[in-house]
Parts: sequence; structure tokens; C-alpha cells
Amino acid sequence: FLEIRNVHKHYGDIEVLRGTNLSVEQHQVVCLIGPSGCGKSTLLRCINGLETIQSGEICLDGDRISGPGVDLNALRREVGIVFQSFNLFPHMSVLHNVTLAPLQVLKMPRAEAEERAMTLLKRIGLEHKAKAFPDQLSGGQQQRVAIVRALAMGPRLLLLDEITSALDPELVSEVLNIVRDLAAEGMTMLLATHEMGFAKEVASKVCFLYQGVVHEEGPPEQIFGDPHEDRTRAFLSSII
Ligand code: ATP
Ligand code: MG
Repeated sequence: FLEIRNVHKHYGDIEVLRGTNLSVEQHQVVCLIGPSGCGKSTLLRCINGLETIQSGEICLDGDRISGPGVDLNALRREVGIVFQSFNLFPHMSVLHNVTLAPLQVLKMPRAEAEERAMTLLKRIGLEHKAKAFPDQLSGGQQQRVAIVRALAMGPRLLLLDEITSALDPELVSEVLNIVRDLAAEGMTMLLATHEMGFAKEVASKVCFLYQGVVHEEGPPEQIFGDPHEDRTRAFLSSII
């Protein structure tokens, strides 16, 4: 469904992605793990066109979504992204944050956009916060709204970049529960995470990224229980 083939990305002299290959099948949850600076965020940003790549290609459902001539608006309708820092628009209410893209990009009628937003907010138990502003919410609530904002566009693929690492520990589970529900509903997701326990539980596949290449990949039981590569083993033992 998502195919990343031999992708190279550098910032000036810094080579970040050095021939990255990775695939995600429909309804899979793929977890991307690896040391700080190995290129996880860069890879996710390349997939939804926030960064351009120098070579290789990225395809979604057979269509090329990297390189010149790609319609970024169309791409971002299909591929949602949620960042570590929630990035809600601070001067807009929760409802406004969630309806903004459907109104402006999809040209959805306001009544429909608001109705759909309220349905989504209800699902995460935050319909009573629709009129609140982001700074009136906890970090966990803001991150749940950020996920819902991405879902409001009806994406076919959701990219999640360490969405719990800026949260206080007691708020992590409320955000992971949403991801768990989305996984159960069959949402296709690629997530960079440091939550190894969670990756073990939800991942269809775990990819260990090292210096911008997928060094080892496999089912979570194998990667966490019996890593074949020395670097994977060293990484996993360094974080547990
Ligand atoms: P972390 O686990 O800390 O989030 P990461 O795997 O997400 O790390 P990236 O953020 O993708 O790593 O960064 C990979 C490398 O690219 C790092 O060496 C970083 O310094 C570099 N890098 C990222 N963005 C830029 C940029 N805009 N300009 C220059 N270098 C960058
Ligand atoms: Mg990162």
C-alpha cells in the first residue's frame, strides 16, 4: 500500500536517509524504532511531502507521491500526520481546529464539517471541550484533538511521530488507547515510537532504522524477543 523505495534525503552534507526501503500494507500498523537522529521523523515528513527527497520514490496505492508534480493538497488528504508537539492552532477553539482543513481543503459545508467533528470528538470523550482553546486542555487532551484533527480529513494512512513523548506519564495511556482503537478498526498507520511495550502490542511489523536505513524488520515478537542484528540488540538493550 505504502512503498518506500531506495529513498535518499540529505540536508546539505548531512545524509539522513541513505537508501531507505520500507513497505506498509493496508490495515497494518508498522512501528518505526531506532536511536535519536536515525531519521524517523525525516522519513515520516518525506512521506507526506513536508520534505523533498533527492532520489528514490514513495508510492501510495501504486501512485507516486514523491518528486516533482505531486499535488500536495491531494497527498495530505490521503496521508495524515500527528507530531510530538501537538501543534494545535492556539488561537482557535478545538472545534475550529478540527473543522479548518475539511472546510478549506475539502470545501465541506460548515454544518457537515461541524457535525463530523463533533462525532469524532465524542468518540474521544471531548465533545464538551469543543469550544475550549488548546491552552485550556491537558497535553493528553490536546494530543487527542490533534489525532482527531488528522482523522477529520478521512486519511487512508496516518503517520504518528512520537505522539506520546511530550506527555506526562499519566497522560500517555489515554492517547495510546485511541491509537489502539484505530488499529482495531483497521486504520493503516506508520508510527515512530519509543513506547516499546506498545509497539510490541499493536505492531504488525517493527522496523529498526539505523543511520537512515531499515537495518532489521520483522514481527514484534522476533524483533523484541530475538533480534538477529547486533545493532538492533544493542539498541534494545540500551533503552530497557
Ligand atoms: P529522534 O528520535 O530524536 O526524534 P529522529 O530519528 O526522528 O530522532 P530526525 O529528526 O529524522 O531523527 O533527524 C535525523 C538527522 O537529520 C539528525 O542528524 C538531524 O540533525 C538532521 N536533521 C533533521 N532535520 C534537519 C534540518 N531541517 N536541517 C538539517 N538537519 C536536519
Ligand atoms: Mg524524531
